[in-house]
Amino acid sequence: MTGLVYVIFGAAVVWVVRAWFWPLAPCRKCDGTKTNSGSTHERFGQCKRCKGSGMRQVLGSRMVHRAVRAALGRKGKR
Ligand SMILES: [Zn+2]
Repeated sequence: MTGLVYVIFGAAVVWVVRAWFWPLAPCRKCDGTKTNSGSTHERFGQCKRCKGSGMRQVLGSRMVHRAVRAALGRKGKR
């Protein structure tokens, strides 16, 4: 069971670091191309999932940013 705890902890650390440094990732549906699968040279179809931005917010990145900022703020006051 100890190994599993390390795996979960490691995954959590990777997730926090990723959410902090790379809060945006290429949209999964269009892979950053910003167009949907029906697009051709004549017809530009905007990806519905990212609304044409080509990016998506990493799950929980806002929460991580808030938590880190709160932690840093507390340390700074002392
Ligand atoms: Zn997209």
